[in-house]
Amino acid sequence: MMKGRVFSGARPTGRQHIGNYLGAIQNYVELQKEYDCIYCIVDIHALTTMEDVAGMQSNIREMMLDWLAAGLDPERSILFVQSHVPQVMELHTLLSMVTPLGWLLRVPTFKEKARMQPQNVKYGLLGYPVLMTADIILYKADTVPVGEDQLPHLELAREIARRFNNLFAPVFPEPQAKLTPYPLVLGLDGVNKMSKSLDNHIEMAATPEETQRRVMTAFTDPERRYRQDPGRPEVCNVYRLHHSYNVDRLEGIGQQCRSAGIGCVDCKKLLAQGINTALEPFRERRAAITARSGYVEEVLADGARRAHVIAEKTIREVKEKMNLL
Ligand code: SF4
Repeated sequence: MMKGRVFSGARPTGRQHIGNYLGAIQNYVELQKEYDCIYCIVDIHALTTMEDVAGMQSNIREMMLDWLAAGLDPERSILFVQSHVPQVMELHTLLSMVTPLGWLLRVPTFKEKARMQPQNVKYGLLGYPVLMTADIILYKADTVPVGEDQLPHLELAREIARRFNNLFAPVFPEPQAKLTPYPLVLGLDGVNKMSKSLDNHIEMAATPEETQRRVMTAFTDPERRYRQDPGRPEVCNVYRLHHSYNVDRLEGIGQQCRSAGIGCVDCKKLLAQGINTALEPFRERRAAITARSGYVEEVLADGARRAHVIAEKTIREVKEKMNLL
């Protein structure tokens, strides 16, 4: 039986944090068992909001190191950088000829960003969903792992693919969403999504000491002010993270919290231990990969070569149907 094809892209944000891992990377790793996977670092997308490009190459490298150490396998999956396969820009331009402007102006994230930063609304921001569509359908991916918040973007990608197919010929599959089981991971502030820009994150490659230091800053149940106060694990983000890193002790920690049998300091130390134990093999693999001079560059060059073969075939087909050849 033919395997389905997964595509997913992520911006070059440098070293990944445990929110990236729980929300996306671990799912990427699992999907490799069932699908042909294409995972892309979308550097052009990053330009829609990034003004300072100085760190771009080091961010790409650090991110790929984390992906590889976490289990993305270049033998099974295609791993590459978006701009290394320039056909995506070509398809973006061709799709922009079939995408009604009204569809793009209605995208909620565009409206939100335009409202928040009216002095900085560029075409790239408006055209972002068209480029995202090109990313997916250039490789004829039929499955896209997404969080619920990205469903409107994927629906738009499906509409653009459908419109092209109706106007010219059925070239593209309409990509289906595959909802990730754990899409939202809150940061150490317990309020916002874990993110580097909010400095509420824990890097996967952090040292054990740094990990513990950061965990100790985490917000907990705001009503538990004194050690003897019973806590409410159900509203505590530290407890939520125990679900991922101390699953065997979860029930006990919950009971001890409710009866004030454990204090938040000790509870956080347990969490830091759990995270460090889980990340130990990852950190060892990362160090080994880092020591292999030129390895990341080889992986990316090979990924771009393989992606290029698929992309070239699709572009040819698109141009034939649009009578451009
Ligand atoms: S004991 Fe743990 S679960 Fe309970 S409030 Fe404190 S940090 Fe949260």
